[in-house]
Amino acid sequence: MKVRVFSTENCPYCRMAKDYLKAKGVEFEDINVGEDRAAADEMVEKSGQKGVPVLDIGDEIIAGFDVPRIDAALEKLKMGKQAKPKKPRPDALKKVYDVLVIGGSAAGLTAAVYAARRNLKTLVLTKDVGGQMSAIKSIENYPGFVDVSGSELVKVMDAQAKASGAEIVIKEVVELNEAEGKAGEKLFMAKACGGEKCDEYLGRTVILAMGKTPRSLGVPGEEGFVGRGVSYCVTCDAPMFKGKDVAVVGGGNSAMDAAIVLSAIARKVYVIHRRSEFRAFEQAVEDARRKKNVEFVLDSIVTGVAGKKFLEAMTVENKKTGKKSELNVEGVFVEVGSDVNTKFVGHLVNLDENGQVKTGKNGETSHAGIFAAGDVTDTPFKQISVAAGDGCKAALSAYNHIHGFESKYVVDWTKQNSKK
Ligand SMILES: Cc1cc2nc3c(=O)[nH]c(=O)nc-3n(C[C@H](O)[C@H](O)[C@H](O)COP(=O)(O)OP(=O)(O)OC[C@H]3O[C@@H](n4cnc5c(N)ncnc54)[C@H](O)[C@@H]3O)c2cc1C
Repeated sequence: MKVRVFSTENCPYCRMAKDYLKAKGVEFEDINVGEDRAAADEMVEKSGQKGVPVLDIGDEIIAGFDVPRIDAALEKLKMGKQAKPKKPRPDALKKVYDVLVIGGSAAGLTAAVYAARRNLKTLVLTKDVGGQMSAIKSIENYPGFVDVSGSELVKVMDAQAKASGAEIVIKEVVELNEAEGKAGEKLFMAKACGGEKCDEYLGRTVILAMGKTPRSLGVPGEEGFVGRGVSYCVTCDAPMFKGKDVAVVGGGNSAMDAAIVLSAIARKVYVIHRRSEFRAFEQAVEDARRKKNVEFVLDSIVTGVAGKKFLEAMTVENKKTGKKSELNVEGVFVEVGSDVNTKFVGHLVNLDENGQVKTGKNGETSHAGIFAAGDVTDTPFKQISVAAGDGCKAALSAYNHIHGFESKYVVDWTKQNSKK
C-alpha cells in the first residue's frame, strides 16, 4: 500500500508530517503540489482542502499534520513501527523533568539546547516545531547566516536540540498548575493534548516560549473556509493559487511580503487595509505597490467571506464612505498581526496589558521557577536572535534555580554534559 504526502516546498507542517512518517519507518511518495498541477487538483478533489499537507494513507485522506489520525490510519494498514503496549503505571506521574519548555521555536529550542547541555532532563512541549520562523522565506539578520530560509534554520535548531539530549513532544499545552512531588517538592504540572489525547507532565521549572500566533479576522464565514480558501500561511498555501485572484488582509510587513510573494503566483492580488497609512516599512509598501497585479484597497475592512465548497468571494466595506463591495477571490491570506496565548498561565505569572509575560533581565517571571523567553515576553524586540538569547538566559536561570543559586553567574562552556 502506497502512502502519499501532498505538500509544498516551504510548508512547515508538511515537513513535520514527512519527518513523522520517516521516524516511523513508513515509505511514502512526496508530491509537490506547488509544481504538479494535476496532483494539486487531485488533492483538492479528494480532500476538499486547498491547504497542505494532505496525507493519503490507505482509504484515509488526512488534512493537516494530525498525529492521532495518521497513527490510526497506519495501524489499520499495520504499517509503521507500532508503539509497545504500555503497562498501566500505578503512578502515571513518576517522571519529573528538570525543565518543561513550552514552545518549540527560536526561544524554546535554544532553551532546550542550553538546559540539556547542563544535564537537565529537558522536555519541549510544542504545537509545532519552528513557530513563526517556519513561514519566513528569507532571514538575513540571524548571526552566522547571510541568508537562510526559516525552514532551514528550524531544521538545524531542531536537530541541535535533539542532539543535546532534549525530548520534543508535539502537543499543545492547555493547562499549567503548581503541583507537589514526593516529600513536598514544589513542581509544576503541564497538561498537553494532541488530538483527543491529553497527558500530564511534571517539571521542577518551566520555560514559557509560546511566542505568538496569527490573529484571525473574526468575520462571518472565516472559520468554515480555513483550508478551503482562507489561509494564515502564505509560504505554505500560495502555490495552490496559481493564476487565481486572491486578497491579502493587513498593512504590516508580513502583509506586504505576502502580496509580493503572491504577485508572482496569482493573477490578481488585492491588499485590503483598514487605514491609508501603513505599519510596514516604506520600502516594503513601495515594492508591493510597484507590482502590476497588486491593487491596494485602503480604508477598508473585510466584513465576510463566502462561497460554496470553496471560497468564492469576500465582502469589503470602505470605512470612510460606508460603501460595500464584493470581491471575487478564491484565496484570502490573513496577515493582521498576532496575539500571545498566555491565558493558561495568567493565574501563575504577571502579564502586561497586551497579555505578554513580564520578565526580568534573566528571563525570570513573577513566579519562582517559571521563566519566559522570546516573543511571548514583554520585550519590544520581536526577533529570532532576541528569542534565542532569551532562551539561553531562561535555561541558565532555570539551572541556577534548580541548584539553589538564583543570581550566580554560570558560564556555559564549563560543559557538564560528557556525551561528546
Ligand atoms: C512573516 C514574518 C517574518 C519575520 N522575519 C524575521 C526576520 O527576518 N528576522 C528575525 O529576526 N525575525 C523575524 N520574524 C520574527 C520571528 O519569527 C520571531 O521573533 C521568532 O520566531 C520568535 O520566536 P519564539 O520562539 O519566541 O516564538 P514563535 O516563533 O512564535 O514560536 C512559538 C512556539 O510555541 C508553540 N506554542 C504556542 N502555544 C503553545 C502551547 N499552548 N503549547 C505548546 N506549544 C505552543 C508554537 O507552536 C511555536 O512552536 C518574522 C516573523 C514573521 C511572522
